[in-house]
Amino acid sequence: MKYVSTRGEAPSLGFEEVLLTGLARDGGLYLPESWPQLSREDIASFAGLSYQETAFRVMKPYVCPEISEDDFADLIDNAYATFRHKAVTPLSQLDSNEWILELFHGPTLAFKDVALQLLGHLFDHVLTRQGRRITIVGATSGDTGSAAIDCVRDRGCAEIFMLHPKGRVSEVQRRQMTTVQSANVHNIAVEGTFDDCQALVKAMFNDLAFRDEIALSAVNSINWARVMAQIVYYFTSAVALGAPARPISYSVPTGNFGDVYAGYVARCMGLPIEQLVVATNINDILARSLTSGDYTVGTVQPTISPSMDIQVSSNFERLLYNLYDGQAAEIRRLMENLKQAGSFTIDGPQLEKAQALFEACRVSEEDTRATIREVYDETEILLDPHTAVGVCAARSKRRRAETPMVTLSTAHPAKFPDAVEAVTGKHPALPDHMADLFSRPEKYDSLPNDLGVIQAYIRDTLK
Ligand SMILES: *Cc1c(COP(=O)(O)O)cnc(C)c1O
Repeated sequence: MKYVSTRGEAPSLGFEEVLLTGLARDGGLYLPESWPQLSREDIASFAGLSYQETAFRVMKPYVCPEISEDDFADLIDNAYATFRHKAVTPLSQLDSNEWILELFHGPTLAFKDVALQLLGHLFDHVLTRQGRRITIVGATSGDTGSAAIDCVRDRGCAEIFMLHPKGRVSEVQRRQMTTVQSANVHNIAVEGTFDDCQALVKAMFNDLAFRDEIALSAVNSINWARVMAQIVYYFTSAVALGAPARPISYSVPTGNFGDVYAGYVARCMGLPIEQLVVATNINDILARSLTSGDYTVGTVQPTISPSMDIQVSSNFERLLYNLYDGQAAEIRRLMENLKQAGSFTIDGPQLEKAQALFEACRVSEEDTRATIREVYDETEILLDPHTAVGVCAARSKRRRAETPMVTLSTAHPAKFPDAVEAVTGKHPALPDHMADLFSRPEKYDSLPNDLGVIQAYIRDTLK
């Protein structure tokens, strides 16, 4: 498979280079040049397979033969061996035709483990074979950081620097990152917001000399391999609920648009997805742009679902590229507007195309809390606030009651215990392997929101 940049001015690359590169050199994001197709028979044949077997069949066209089929199957098995549920991503029922897909059974209790555990094994495999080392720099609003650190900790192939907005991630989230004592793990608390952190990482990627000097790589959701790994659970859950014979709808708590974009890809590959609800909190740039076509960057407001507190949604560029039928010049025009004016407008025909599948929904803080309470009263299931945003959006936007509606449950409630307890009176307990999290020592440095200072810190640490 060949991969091309959404901005059309970077060389096309194979899977391994796309994995290691992250952001394209022209500032764009890599996408496969065509979507592999799975027929109804292919999809029907997934019934009864394990998560790992389905994962292999769904991802194989993107990865093999660059990585041999046997090696890839082993990498998948090793990646998901760390999950505490044998089904990896089990479904749980809320109502007669309503489900949540539990994506939080990995080592750091958020859905990001599903992709990042695989990414860690892919990095290790490719870098060891090529005799290379890389430096991973990432920005996190909370969950990416710990999942990324967990995927490369103690691996000889990579050094990782993780930027988080100081004082703006939950204590559980911070401790999950800062209590990892591995020598190749470096946490930086940036005096700024998540968008500042993300802008710093982008700037480091656009500094091509720095990028080459430290062999910079990314594990945030701009990395194609992450999107790819997330396609799998749309297939496993849809097949469990009767696809391809009947269509399925999804509601996806959304920030950077990676997870819901993976659902779009699953549909492009042939999965009968009827509706994709893009559920946002009050940081609603995506809800606004999918409703009116107006993508205008606002200011970030902190919420009880902090992993979705963002205003610049990087993966949205991938969808734009598809909506504009791969016309990279159009994407360059929109992104130039964004850079110059802080906004762009999606044109009418492209917006209509998006609206046929996507339904956007902004969920207020009160409605998020009310949903946690409502679901607890109905089922005794504790939802974390991100999942609650998804369930609330699913309930208000579903088009047809006969179509199963699945909300992606993106975090374990114990990751956000205060919000959950405030509403339900119930304290969600951490799983056993993390029970001593609050007594482990922390290790991190605080730095100003200044590109030069952070680049110097990284250079010094690598020496
Ligand atoms: C990252 C994250 C999201 C948002 O996912 P995107 O792929 O960035 O849209 C939602 N919920 C939780 C718990 C997350 O960690």
